[in-house]
Amino acid sequence: MIHEHKIESPKEKQNRHKAMEAISMLEKLKHDFKEPPKAMDYFYNLYEDVHCKQKPLHADKVKVGTMCIQVPAEITHALDAVQIRLCNGFYTDDEIGSDLLPSKSCPLVKATVGQFASNNFSDKPDIIISPTTCDQKAKSGAIIEDMGFDIYDMEFPRTKESEESREYWRRSVRKFTKELSNNLGKKLTRKKLKESIKKIGYAQTLYHRLNSLRKNAHSPLLGVDMFLVTNAFFFDKIDAWIPAVEALASECEQRVKDGTDAARKISPRIVYTGSPPIFPNLKIPYLIEQSDAIIVADETCSSNRMFNDMVSVDEWFLYDMVDSVADRYLKGCTCPIFTKNDDRKRRIIDLVREYKADGVVYQAFAGCQVYEMEQRSVLEAMEKEGIPIIYLESDYSPSHLGQLTTRIEAFVESLKNRKRKAK
Ligand code: SF4
Ligand code: SF4
Repeated sequence: MIHEHKIESPKEKQNRHKAMEAISMLEKLKHDFKEPPKAMDYFYNLYEDVHCKQKPLHADKVKVGTMCIQVPAEITHALDAVQIRLCNGFYTDDEIGSDLLPSKSCPLVKATVGQFASNNFSDKPDIIISPTTCDQKAKSGAIIEDMGFDIYDMEFPRTKESEESREYWRRSVRKFTKELSNNLGKKLTRKKLKESIKKIGYAQTLYHRLNSLRKNAHSPLLGVDMFLVTNAFFFDKIDAWIPAVEALASECEQRVKDGTDAARKISPRIVYTGSPPIFPNLKIPYLIEQSDAIIVADETCSSNRMFNDMVSVDEWFLYDMVDSVADRYLKGCTCPIFTKNDDRKRRIIDLVREYKADGVVYQAFAGCQVYEMEQRSVLEAMEKEGIPIIYLESDYSPSHLGQLTTRIEAFVESLKNRKRKAK
């Protein structure tokens, strides 16, 4: 009997590689630590469905893809569309993007461009919004447009303290609202926008309910699991994400009452800052927690920064609400793309104090100039406050972990010694 061997197409091969990357990370998260909360199963299954089985979640909706965190989801939801963040953590896509961008580019940007080049989406975006935040994002938007995708550039200021920049950004959000409304053929109403602000506000409150449990001496949840929960907000149905986080928060509240610790008593508590960890590239958070530390808080745009500031509305009139939405995004942004960024340093110090952290891990993607450039001033600010900090540079490659592991283990050991001495 002759067996027919089906020849795998390049797309099938890429999908297989991506599924392997996703499964490999999920298996580590499920089995390499103490037992995770039962409610985490929702998130493990979600990632498996979307990244391994390519299951679409939004087949019946218009999908608005965003190149960065700075696109106001409240407006998109109010126009009956779904917003999907396109920041990508797959090494398979990073390698594809490497053929199209300079080799020293940020891996997140290369992976995003690589995904477009291979046209490999479980939920393909109908329109892409590209805020002019970092240079690499802005330039990659143009490259993606040349591939035949529909891109809308959204202007974003590089300073945030001045009245001029605030007004500039408000104008940009008003224009985006009008153009998206025209593009989708939907009218933005006061009722819809109010509902959308309330729903996203509730999701933010839920995040804070869960996150604040990590302030306990026994944190009920690992940092790697928290990144999974927040990264899921990039693409999940909000009406599914909300009950899943409610269940997780309730279970974690019970864990706190029972004294269940996701780590050990001696495990140093870490605040994580820098380039955003995006599934499946949870390499550095995983190495930190494998080295017997626990991430109790973060200052990154793939997690904490997405949920921080709530929309604060004075008058529930349509255009006042649009301006209030705009303000939330500019004020809350601590990305190093800004000229001056004292907010970011203050925020990291506050997190260390609030979450009783023992040290800070600052990670920058090789090729991300702004995070690399800002590390010196952040290191100085932490040293002034007596907060131990380590700076790491990494990419998406699964190899060469030895040096990173050694440095992280040495840092964790030094924090443990400090803790022992302080007793
Ligand atoms: S790092 Fe900055 S520019 Fe990049 S996605 Fe995050 S907020 Fe946007
Ligand atoms: S990590 Fe740096 S280069 Fe990459 S998206 Fe963020 S700011 Fe841009």
